[in-house]
Order: sequence, then structure tokens, then C-alpha cells
Amino acid sequence: WDMFVLAFVERLFRPTYRKDDFVLGKKLGEGSFGVVYRVSLAKKPGSKESDLVLKKASEYGAVEIWMNERVRRACASSCADFVYGFLENSSRKKGEYWLIWRFEGEATLADLMLSKDFPYNVEAMILGEVQDLPKGLERENKIIQTVLRQLLFALDGLHSTGIVHRDIKPQNIIFSEGSRTFKIIDLGAAADLRVGINYIPKEFLLDPRYAAPEQYIMSTQTPSAPSAPVATALSPVLWQMNLPDRFDIYSAGLIFLQMAFPSLRTDSSLIQFNRQLKRCGYDLAEWRKTVEPRAGSELRRGFELLDLDGGIGWELLTSMVRYKARQRTSAKAALAHPYFDREGLLALSFMQ
Ligand code: ADP
Ligand code: MG
Repeated sequence: WDMFVLAFVERLFRPTYRKDDFVLGKKLGEGSFGVVYRVSLAKKPGSKESDLVLKKASEYGAVEIWMNERVRRACASSCADFVYGFLENSSRKKGEYWLIWRFEGEATLADLMLSKDFPYNVEAMILGEVQDLPKGLERENKIIQTVLRQLLFALDGLHSTGIVHRDIKPQNIIFSEGSRTFKIIDLGAAADLRVGINYIPKEFLLDPRYAAPEQYIMSTQTPSAPSAPVATALSPVLWQMNLPDRFDIYSAGLIFLQMAFPSLRTDSSLIQFNRQLKRCGYDLAEWRKTVEPRAGSELRRGFELLDLDGGIGWELLTSMVRYKARQRTSAKAALAHPYFDREGLLALSFMQ
């Protein structure tokens, strides 16, 4: 009830918007459940608050609004700044949900990873001016570490709130120019297990490029999300039993892999990797054994990066990409992994 009243009061004092307040700009994306535009506020063109993003969503938009409202109250820094969501009923169509966020920046991690210069292009964005340091594995590793840490930090926020994203991929990670950090976007497929809001329409397919091998985040013993009052009592138990957050960890592990291996960054090479990994029983060590002997220089370089400092990068990667969800590390545990411990040491070695 407290939360309900708080949400209500907060809503009273927040600006509300209607369809006519927005001027549509460039189209940023189009998925099967909605279209995304950059928009500005009609009343205050040019003002800073007017740089916004609008998603016109189908009936599933209701769930996405719920998730964004919850994130804003519980773990705001994890995701793009949500401004407002409402049901737009004036169109001839049945009604669309309109969702508004602050425009965080031009580039997703997918855009940045497409550049030949990755991860150096990201270093400049995170740190601002970059000194003229020699390019090399250690420096690349440090940048990749920073990106992965920011992603895990955002995921830890979501998971601690009880939300599983289920569609973690570079296309859904935006670089926020304001905070100079990566944030998560697109909560359209997310599940909130604490209150039982867990909606995947039957026709919805998880992105097969980044999905963990388990098809459903809850075991088949829980065929559908329980209704709200039951779920409130049960879900912490269900969470413990099924560890649904580990679905996102697998996806994050694949992103780590793609950052380390430039040759795995295209869709086709990732799909091929998935096939190889499946053939190896989802055992990364086994995969390494089969590809390393005949690996080209790019692939070898990736292993070299992960093998730095006694192989702690490889160790973390293999603890994220595992067949069994319960054997995967959590976001919180991953953040405490020694892979992230050497910030200071590395900074020192750069200065020498
Ligand atoms: P969908 O994948 O369902 O089309 P997304 O929520 O992923 O919708 O948004 C589509 C694209 O719009 C993203 O890949 C990103 O390029 C852009 N985008 C979404 N939200 C923001 C935001 N807050 N700031 C800047 N760009 C955004
Ligand atoms: Mg998306």
C-alpha cells in the first residue's frame, strides 16, 4: 500500500503529456511490437528536456510501462530515464501505448561494436579525453572490463528489484551521454517475478542469438505466472528455485565474448558460434579445445586477452556462459569477481 500511495502521489506531481505535445522526429527502430521515434516537445522546442524518445507500442506496452515505472522507483540508474507512459486512444486503431524516455544518446553498444575501432571508441566516450597511450591488449581489456562492469551493475539493479530482462543484447544497451555509462533499454520482454507480472505472448520468440539454452526462465513446473497476490507470497521462493536472473547472465556472457573476439561480432558468426557451442554441450572449455588449435590470429588474440592476469577474464566468462542456470554466476557475484579488481593496478601500469 505504501508503494501504491507513493506512486500515486509521485504521479500527481509529475508532468503529464498527451499525443499533441510531441513533434515526431527520426525513426530510431521498429520491432514487432512497436515503433520508436526521437521526438521533441511541441511547447518548448529546443529546450533540453524536449530531447525525448517515444515508443508507440501495441497492447504489450502496458507491461513495458509497468516495468519502467518500477525501475524508475527502484533502480533508476540501470535503465534509460523513463518520463511517462499512457494509453493513446484518439487514433482510429484500438489504442496504442505511448512510452516516453529521455534521449540518452546516439549509440547503442551494437553500434559501437560495429566500429573497427572498438573498444577504443568507447574509451573516449567513457573517459572523455584519452591520453596518447599505446594501443594493446591490456588497454583493450581495461575498456572491456569497464563496459562489462557497467552492464553487470545495471543488471544487478534490475535483478535485485525482481526484474529479469530476457532480451539483453548489444542493441538494447544504450550509451548515456549524460552519465557516460551504459544503460539498459527495452523492457518489453521483461518479467517482474515479485508481483507476478511475467508476460511473454505465445508468439513471442526470445532473440535466439543471445538466449540461454533454457527456453523458459521458470521451470516447466510453473507453467504460467501466478496471479498477483499468490505471486507476492511465492515468488522469492520461485526465484531461488529457478534462478531466472541467470538467463540474463548468459546473454551478458555472450556480449563479453563478442567484446573479446572481434570475429564473433557479426550475426552470422555469433550464430555459428552458438551452433559450435551447442555441439560442445555448451562447454566453453570444450569449445576452446576444438577451435584454438586452428584459430586465426584474431581468435588467438581474444584468448590472449582473456588469459591476461592468470586467465581471470576467461574464468569469469566461463562462469557466465554455462548450460545450467544454477551453475552460472549472479550479477552481484560477477561484480565481486577478481577480474574487476585490478583497476588501480592497471591504471598504474599505464602511467609507467
Ligand atoms: P524495439 O527493440 O522494441 O524496437 P527499443 O526500446 O529497443 O525498441 O528501441 C529501439 C531503438 O531506439 C534502440 O535500439 C535505440 O537505438 C533507440 N532508443 C531507445 N530508447 C532510447 C533512449 N532512451 N535514448 C536514445 N535512444 C533510444
Ligand atoms: Mg530493442
